[in-house]
Amino acid sequence: MAKMNKIWLSSPTLHGEELQFVKEAIETNWVSTVGENINRLEEMAAEYVGVKHAVALSSGTAALHMCMKLAGEKLDPGVRPGQALKGKRVFCSDMTFDASVNPIVYEDGEPVFIDTERDTWNMDPVALEKAFELYPDVRLVVLAHLYGVPAKMDEIVDICRRHGALIVEDAAEALGASYSGKRVSGKCGALGDYMAVSFNGNKIVTGSTGGMFLTDDQADADKVRKWSTQSREDAPWYQHEELGYNYRMSNIVAGIVRGNMLHISEHIASKKAVYERYREGFADLPAVLNPYEDCAEPNFWLSCMLIDRKAMCRQVRGEKDYLYLKEPGKTCPQEILEALAAINAEGRPIWKPMHMQPIYRTHGFVTAEGYGRAWSNAYINEAERADVGADIFDRGLCLPSDNKMTPDDQDRVIEAVRSCFQ
Ligand SMILES: *Cc1c(COP(=O)(O)O)cnc(C)c1O
Repeated sequence: MAKMNKIWLSSPTLHGEELQFVKEAIETNWVSTVGENINRLEEMAAEYVGVKHAVALSSGTAALHMCMKLAGEKLDPGVRPGQALKGKRVFCSDMTFDASVNPIVYEDGEPVFIDTERDTWNMDPVALEKAFELYPDVRLVVLAHLYGVPAKMDEIVDICRRHGALIVEDAAEALGASYSGKRVSGKCGALGDYMAVSFNGNKIVTGSTGGMFLTDDQADADKVRKWSTQSREDAPWYQHEELGYNYRMSNIVAGIVRGNMLHISEHIASKKAVYERYREGFADLPAVLNPYEDCAEPNFWLSCMLIDRKAMCRQVRGEKDYLYLKEPGKTCPQEILEALAAINAEGRPIWKPMHMQPIYRTHGFVTAEGYGRAWSNAYINEAERADVGADIFDRGLCLPSDNKMTPDDQDRVIEAVRSCFQ
């Protein structure tokens, strides 16, 4: 049998302009953290997302760290670096990548996780409202748009405003997605108080690495520009009044992102086509794709599947391993992931919720029904029923969603997945 090409979850899709911009940078000797590619990319990104200012940084995580510092200073002027959120609880998305959450801890804050809703797989506004009842002193919310699907922004922004809380918007996975609600509208990355996007290698637009801080506030942009270049003061020598970071994007990386960014609309269109083909291919299966609201247009970064409970065979997961028992007509995420691997295709489990991660085991978790940690055995069943994140992690998986997957490749994937339901 001929060797089949690997079908990736989501790999870089490059075009040619990337190389051109990198070549120009090298030929003109702008091989540093200043240069034309950085300047042009910042203009492009701000215009595309619809914000006034963009600051190019080394990663999305760095951009989120800058967001946490700014939010901490705003809430409490004069806080010490590394302690901008000291003693503060911060509400955050629970089903997300840990880079949403870690920067809270870099600044000594305490993440409290807010459970997920079923309509977009993002932060549940009902649970968020409950969390403000349980922790009325909280003034910061970190919100991610999972897999490029916009969260319920109308409700979340309204709740945050009523409670006087700032919003860090983690749009790392959602560049190009947009939301047009009754009260809130715009592109993801323009919907919070402090915004971050990522250009990591598997994101919809990439520079191999990289990230961007986005804001409408000139003073915030200036601070991030300064902090990210070691906080150098305007003086003839290296003069420092506050702690700095080496977080600026390289002009080489910026060249790749700048070239790749020219093709974002094509990337979104091809990702959407992948999603639509899955929808057709799985229409008769006891399963659904990751959903979105009518008022939202996702970027379709990853297509995911959620198996109906009645079609789940028994599956248990430990911290690092799993077991399942195959039953006719039933399947589970781990069986499907194995079937994909067997045809050289890459799927992935749903991002394991943060409240289930050993590192955050002692942190608060709030569901739509209230405090989500089981206090006693008597309460466990009740809490599990309400734990939407754990349920989606149990029954869901990310399907191969690569831009370069051909319809033929995708037919093979669909066939492999369908066979698991037999
Ligand atoms: C990728 C990602 C990040 C981090 O971005 P990097 O550029 O990899 O540092 C943050 N949050 C979410 C939700 C992500 O998917």
